[in-house]
Amino acid sequence: MKSKAAQSVQDLHYFGEFGGVNPSISDSSTYTFLSAKTMFDTFEGNTEGCYLYSRHSSPSNLYLGEAMAALENTESANVYASGMGAISAVVMQLCNANEHIVSSRTIYGGTYALFKNFLPKLNIETSFVDITKLSVVEAAITENTKLIYCEAVSNPLLEVADIEALAILAKKHNIPLVVDNTFSPSNISPAELGADIVIHSLTKFINGTSDCVAGAVCASTDFCLSLKDVNDGAGMLFGSTLDSLRAASILKNMRTLHIRMKKHSDNAYYLAQHFEKDGLKVVYPGLPSHPGHETLKKQMNEEFGFGGLLTIDVGSLEKANSLMELLQKENLGYLAVSLGFYKTLFSAPGTSTSSEIPLEEQETMGLSTGLIRFSIGLDHDITDTYKRMKSCMQKLNILDKQKELA
Ligand code: PLP
Repeated sequence: MKSKAAQSVQDLHYFGEFGGVNPSISDSSTYTFLSAKTMFDTFEGNTEGCYLYSRHSSPSNLYLGEAMAALENTESANVYASGMGAISAVVMQLCNANEHIVSSRTIYGGTYALFKNFLPKLNIETSFVDITKLSVVEAAITENTKLIYCEAVSNPLLEVADIEALAILAKKHNIPLVVDNTFSPSNISPAELGADIVIHSLTKFINGTSDCVAGAVCASTDFCLSLKDVNDGAGMLFGSTLDSLRAASILKNMRTLHIRMKKHSDNAYYLAQHFEKDGLKVVYPGLPSHPGHETLKKQMNEEFGFGGLLTIDVGSLEKANSLMELLQKENLGYLAVSLGFYKTLFSAPGTSTSSEIPLEEQETMGLSTGLIRFSIGLDHDITDTYKRMKSCMQKLNILDKQKELA
C-alpha cells in the first residue's frame, strides 16, 4: 500500500505574518474581538477563523492539527499536551458512566492503568482481550460498549492489529474503532484502513527530539469539534492543551518524519535480521517469524518499512539490566524509556513502561522479565552498530546462552 499521507504533510504551506517560511507562533492566551456579538457567536461555535482563548484553539495548534490530519488522512485533528491527554479526552468524550470499552490487552502501561484503575471510578469498565483474535474481540462487545481500542503496533510486545478487520467489526456493531498509532506514524495509516479515530503520542517519533510531551487526535471534523465544545468537550473541559510554542516546534520537526521513519525502519530491520540469525529471541514485525508479519505487510505503507522498534528477550531481568548498562557505557544508546529519538533507547518494559500491569497479567500476555524494548536510532553506520552491540552481548555471554536454549 502507498499512502498519500507523507506527501500531504509536505504539500501544506503556510507563510508567517511577515512572509516567513514558517507560520508565525501565536503568543497569546486570549484574543480581542471588534464586536461583542462576534465574541458571543464564537462562544456558541458559530464563527470561523476567530480565536477565543488558547485552551480552546490557537493558530499554532491548528497548524499542527492540520499537519496531523494530513499525515493520517483524516478530516481534522486536535493537538493535546500529551498522548495521555489525547487518549483520556477521547475516552471521556465517547463514554458515559456504566458504559464499556473493549481494549487490546497489550497496550501502553499508562493507557492500561487509565482503563483498568481509573475509569472504574466512573463506572466505566474495560474488557481486555487478545486483539488478534477477532472472535474474542466480538464476544467481548456488549450493548454498553462504546469503543474498541487498540494500538496499531502495540507497546511493548509489537503485536500487530488487523485494523481493516477490526474496523469492519466495529462498523457491524456501530461503535468507533480507536487506534493509537504512536509506534507506526507513516508506516501505517489506520484511518485509510477504516479506523474512526487515530491517536498519537507526538512525544515519540513525530516530534523525534525527545524534548517535549504532546499528543493528537485525528478524526472527523464533527468529533474533533465535539472535543473542543465549550459546554461538554472533554478536550476543552479537562484542559490538556498544548502550548503554542511547542506546537510550532513539533510542526517543524514533523517535516522530516518521512525521512526519519525510513531510517529508523531500515536500521531496525537490519539489526532484527542479524540478531535473529545469531540465535537471539527477537521480536520485530518485519521478520517472517513474527505472527503479525503478514497482517502488517497487508496494511503497511511499504516505503516506510516495518518500524523502528524491536524487542529481544535475554532470559532474565538481571541479564537485561547488565546488557542495557553496557550498551549505554559503550555509547550505543541510552537506558531510557520513550522512543523515536535519533539515538537508540532501550528499557525493560516489565519494570518500566508496563510496570502498571500486574506481574501475572504481564506473564499471560507474554511480557517476560528479560525482555528489552529497543527504539532503534538513526545510526549512520548500522553495520558498525551491529558489530558493537554483538560484542557487548558476547561479553555478557548472552549470545552463547541463547544458542544453548535454542
Ligand atoms: N501511547 C503509546 C503507545 C505510548 O507508548 C505512550 C507513551 O509512552 C502514550 C500513548 C502516552 O503518551 P504521552 O507520554 O505523550 O502522554
